[in-house]
Order: sequence, then structure tokens, then C-alpha cells
Amino acid sequence: MKKMNILQNVSLAGYSTMGLGGTAAYLVDVTTRGEVVESLAWAKEHQLPTVMIGEGSNIIWSDAGYPGLVMIDKIRGYEVYQEDETNVYLTLGSGEPWDSVVERSVAAGLTGIEALSLIPGTAGATPVQNVGAYGQEISQTLTTLEVFDSQDGTFKTLAGSDCGFGYRTSRFKAADHGRFYISSLVLHLTKGNPLPPFYGSVQAYFNQVASVNAIRNNADVSIDFALAKNNQGILFDLPLLTLQSKGLEVKINEPIMIPVEMTMGADRNFNHTVLMEFFDYLPTVAMP
Ligand SMILES: Cc1cc2nc3c(=O)[nH]c(=O)nc-3n(C[C@H](O)[C@H](O)[C@H](O)COP(=O)(O)OP(=O)(O)OC[C@H]3O[C@@H](n4cnc5c(N)ncnc54)[C@H](O)[C@@H]3O)c2cc1C
Repeated sequence: MKKMNILQNVSLAGYSTMGLGGTAAYLVDVTTRGEVVESLAWAKEHQLPTVMIGEGSNIIWSDAGYPGLVMIDKIRGYEVYQEDETNVYLTLGSGEPWDSVVERSVAAGLTGIEALSLIPGTAGATPVQNVGAYGQEISQTLTTLEVFDSQDGTFKTLAGSDCGFGYRTSRFKAADHGRFYISSLVLHLTKGNPLPPFYGSVQAYFNQVASVNAIRNNADVSIDFALAKNNQGILFDLPLLTLQSKGLEVKINEPIMIPVEMTMGADRNFNHTVLMEFFDYLPTVAMP
């Protein structure tokens, strides 16, 4: 096993699309399931808390930083492990970049996750909030996932039905927050094109071009992605006070429409609105 390179006092701004936050006491890239175990053992020995993250597209770190070991998920992998005339089962390393998984599966003529195109982050983070868009959710295609269970120190296989999935939530985000370290997942996709009904804007595009590229070219999605690329990521966990001070009427846990102009610098001029989810808390990792 190669020696792990544990870094000390690392700025967390580079580990969040928001580009904010203090420093991590320790930080390490994790590239294999063996390194998950090794990192956790090291942290335990030094009596430090741990958190595993992907690309930081749903994290806002606090200015106080993180007092323990931040594990960056770099466990790659994209493999067809089983297939027949209609079905394909894909095994993914948890650190595989999600949009490239979608891109490869669409290019291979598979359907099941195409509506989740252009969502930033890693494959392993998708079950955490049951990532979804345009009527598709990862819970619909996730059959199993492999996790390291910190409660008993073993790897386990969980069925999708064991994940406590709900609208943008799961047991990983709720009752079992911080317990599991996701290392791989298996998706069940099918061969062929997606079947209707689709979201209105996507259907209108399909009517014209009849292509799975409808999702990738859809205006709403593209603007989300442009924001992410420009490092001005849309806040999925929005502090109540900020929104109210901007004159918006907000209700706890209800979706809210926010004019894009409000989320972007004054020099940008998108005449568009984005439907955002609103939560009444910041991500737990931001507040160790
Ligand atoms: C512009 C923009 C558009 C977005 N659009 C959508 C959308 O349409 N739909 C949607 O559902 N979300 C959307 N999101 C939210 C975000 O893309 C997803 O939540 C994504 O899954 C986060 O992936 P990540 O790798 O960046 O996770 P991170 O932000 O790094 O981590 C998120 C959480 O998951 C945990 N986690 C990550 N990896 C692991 C692991 N291997 N094991 C255990 N826990 C882990 C972390 O500890 C943290 O609590 C969007 C975000 C942005 C910035």
C-alpha cells in the first residue's frame, strides 16, 4: 500500500464551489477503499473527527474551518459489470465525476440518468441527497452501494431500498449522517432512448430534435452549470436571513423562485429565474 500524503492546515476554499471557508486541520486524497480504512484509522489514532467529501458543490465551509481530517473522494471507476439485451448494470467508483458518468452512459445509448446531466459533483455524493432533476432521481436507478460503516468498522453492501430515500434526502443526510463512507455504487440502466412524459421545457426540445441532448441543451440546466463553472454555485442550503433581507418571502422547506440576477454579479444579465430548493440549515460539515 502506498504511503498516504496527509496534508496539514489546508485552505478549504478550494474544496467548495463557493470558494469560501477556513482551513482543514488535515486533508487527504483517498483513491481506494483501502485508503478509506487507513485514513479513518489514522484519524482515530489522533482522536480527530473525519468527513468524506466529493467536489464540494453542496458544501459551505465555515470560516472556523474543520478541526479534523477531510477525506477527498478520488475513488475512480466506471465499469459495466453485467448486461443483457435490455439491461446494463454499471459499477461506479464513488469519486467518479458525475457528469462524465452521465455523458458516457448517454453516449453508450443508455437511459436512466440523462436528466441528471450537468449536475456538479461526484457519483458517490448522489445518494446523499438523492440527487434529482427533471423528474429523475438517483434512487430510481441505484440498486446497491458499498459503504464503510464506522459503527462496526466493516464494508457493507446496502440496497437502494435501505437508503431511506426521500425528496433530496436519504439516511446518509439524516439519521445516519456521518456514519457511512460511500466507496462505490451500482446503477441499473436500460438500453434505448428515454421514454415520456418529460418536463415541459424538455419535451418541447424533444419535439424539435428528438435527442437525449435535450437535457444538456436545456436553458435552465445550462445556466445552473454556468454558475457552477464560474464558481458562483447556486446555494442549495440558503440562510433564511440572507434571503429575507433581499426582500424574498421564504417558508421553511418550501421551494423558492429566486431571480438569477440576485445570485449573480451586476455585470451579468440573464433574464431568467431558477427554481431552488430551500433548507433551513447549512450543511452539517460546514459547522463542525
Ligand atoms: C450549480 C449547481 C447545480 C446543482 N444542481 C443540482 C440539481 O439539479 N439537483 C440536485 O439534486 N443537486 C444539485 N446540486 C447540488 C450538488 O451538485 C449535489 O448535491 C452533488 O451530489 C454534490 O456532489 P459533491 O461531490 O460536490 O458533494 P460534496 O458537496 O462534496 O458533499 C455533499 C455531501 O455529501 C457527503 N459526501 C460526499 N461524498 C461522500 C462519500 N463518498 N461518502 C459519504 N458521504 C459523502 C459530504 O460529506 C457532504 O455532506 C447543484 C449544485 C450546484 C453548485
